[in-house]
Amino acid sequence: MVKAIVGANWGDEGKGKITDMCAGESDIVVRFQGGSNAGHTIINEHGKFALHLLPSGIFHENTLNIIGNGVALNIEYLLKEVDALKDAGIKFQLLISERAQVLLKHHVLLDEYEEERLAERKFGSTKSGIAPFYADKYSKTGIQVWELYHEDRLKEKLKGIYEKINIQFKYLYNKPEIDYIEVYDNLVKYAALIKGYVTDTGKILRNAIKENKNILLEGQLGSLKDTDHGIYPYVTSSSTLAGYAAVGAGIPPHSIKDVMVITKAYSSAVGAGPFVSELFGEEADELRKRGGDAGEFGATTGRPRRVGYFDAVATRYGCEIQGATEVVMTCLDVLSYMDKLYICTGYDINGEIVKDFPTTELLYKAKPVYTVLDGWKSDITGIDSYSNLPDKAKEYVDFIEKEINVKISMVSNGPKREEILKR
Ligand code: GDP
Repeated sequence: MVKAIVGANWGDEGKGKITDMCAGESDIVVRFQGGSNAGHTIINEHGKFALHLLPSGIFHENTLNIIGNGVALNIEYLLKEVDALKDAGIKFQLLISERAQVLLKHHVLLDEYEEERLAERKFGSTKSGIAPFYADKYSKTGIQVWELYHEDRLKEKLKGIYEKINIQFKYLYNKPEIDYIEVYDNLVKYAALIKGYVTDTGKILRNAIKENKNILLEGQLGSLKDTDHGIYPYVTSSSTLAGYAAVGAGIPPHSIKDVMVITKAYSSAVGAGPFVSELFGEEADELRKRGGDAGEFGATTGRPRRVGYFDAVATRYGCEIQGATEVVMTCLDVLSYMDKLYICTGYDINGEIVKDFPTTELLYKAKPVYTVLDGWKSDITGIDSYSNLPDKAKEYVDFIEKEINVKISMVSNGPKREEILKR
């Protein structure tokens, strides 16, 4: 059975915890898009880890972890994460697609220089090089992992790549040029270090599907950050949708049977862009504080998260474009302090109430229309069965389920693996 775990919103929905939880029952966990520009926070018996590139199944000794062809592979980052696991004495299984593309030093620099050039108009990039990386990939000037093992070819290709990059660096950004030989030497060194992990992972996955293995496809960020369907241009540069998981892993689209979409019980987002139900000032500070790790800072960027009330318009859309077969709601515990719970059930755009998620400029004009429910006002951490939740908490979940039109199969009431309530 192939299951995708993806985000309904702007990322940071708590996918890491759910993936970690499901990974124990999975034979294989696959990352299929993105790079080290976002991260999962995972808390387990080994401690607390922020994973950026490694799949969340990495803590389960019997689970094979695959970095698929759709991923932006920053080898330096990967080796750091691998070393951290080795240092913690964790045994793991890892494979890297020979068709994954390698993120190079100039991608990170381009990201940085471009944000600097744009100044006030910047996108709020994580400066991980992701946008320039995918630009190169689709311009066919990127490097796939297999190319690292054909050294003469690699050197020639890098020479060509940096001819153009250096013109840009020198004349557009007024920055030092890059010596392609230095890049080449580094890549050859890295290539040797990852060689044992590199293989045709698509073939392995397709065979595993034939053998009815349990495969988990692990998404990064969420629907609203998808390049095509998100809040363009405040999106990421790869597709965050379950539909892309087939491409980014190298498996048939019809093999994905379960699309588990994760949403938080409230909204949070990192980076620029429209955010209709956003809170500001003291209300926002309080929610961020109550969120603890979940609320305050992005796992990768350390940037404070923007927070707001649950947005049913955005989430329904997010679930639709993912093709959600079930939804998991995380962080319900965070709302326990609220007297009243606001749920954004419509957007008022120039006096018209809209229920369908619009394009970016209209989102900026949208004012939230709220339905208000009573809060449950009691700590729900430690409750170990859904039926024992306060009625008002269940009403909140029921209401949202109706709004988003997808079954909420589980509710999470704390960051730990066991803090999950099946409905
Ligand atoms: P991801 O990118 O979707 O994996 O999300 P992150 O891991 O970046 O952010 C989710 C944060 O929420 C992490 O700090 C988790 O430990 C935390 N978290 C997940 N589920 C819950 C929950 O039910 N309650 C609380 N309080 N925190 C949670």
